[in-house]
Amino acid sequence: MGGRLYYKTEEEIGLIRESSLLVAKTLAEVAKALKPGATTASVDRIAEEFIRDHKAVPAFKGYNGFPNTLCVSVNAQVVHGIPGTYQVKEGDIVSVDCGVLKNGFYGDSAYTFGVGEINAEAQKLLKVTRECLWKGIQMAVAGKRIGDISEAVQSHAEKNGFSVVRELVGHGVGKQLHEEPEVPNYGRKGTGQQLRKGLVIAIEPMINMGGKAVKQEKDGWTITTNDGMPSAHFEHTVAVGEEKAEVLSTFEYIEEVLKEKV
Ligand code: MG
Ligand code: MG
Repeated sequence: MGGRLYYKTEEEIGLIRESSLLVAKTLAEVAKALKPGATTASVDRIAEEFIRDHKAVPAFKGYNGFPNTLCVSVNAQVVHGIPGTYQVKEGDIVSVDCGVLKNGFYGDSAYTFGVGEINAEAQKLLKVTRECLWKGIQMAVAGKRIGDISEAVQSHAEKNGFSVVRELVGHGVGKQLHEEPEVPNYGRKGTGQQLRKGLVIAIEPMINMGGKAVKQEKDGWTITTNDGMPSAHFEHTVAVGEEKAEVLSTFEYIEEVLKEKV
């Protein structure tokens, strides 16, 4: 990053919404496929095909050399997991991050799935991380500051006994996958860049059940908790509004699938 802020027109926000909705539908395909025994690579292939069938391009594939369409991060893996031969199993929590490029604009969203029955602590981690995302989104209003989003996410996570990853942050979204400003998940109210209508940002809390420290695995990508405890990640692409934030991605399609699975 390290560039200027781009304020989008209504038309541009419409295009980012279109890309974000394709991400949402792709994650619903992921929800269908993520059953015990499925390899993370098989889910990745399904996502790539779905995106290309919809005349779009997977945003992550080739991004700084990342090899796949999805980032799939299981249990203690926080983000940037590379799909492969791992077979998901009952009780796993699996964070799936997806981005697409369509009509010159990106969309970016992530969801953490429980595979089959997951234990009560893991359920709480998913619930709280998702709540953190919504607390952050509520702050994405003109006149607020980036630090208001950061503080809202951090305080909700910590109030629930969890910790916030510092090394990775949310970001602006537009003609680039990662634009200014950075959107940290920790910080102080009333600090940082002031928000204006037209700014589009990805808010993406990464919340650890144990300590906040993370490390990078030898594959050069996967970020994992130091203590081996689970981590969750939810992300929406959001347009800053005058009165309220406009969420451009959605979890609705995922939820339709998950209801059917129960
Ligand atoms: Mg993402
Ligand atoms: Mg992102």
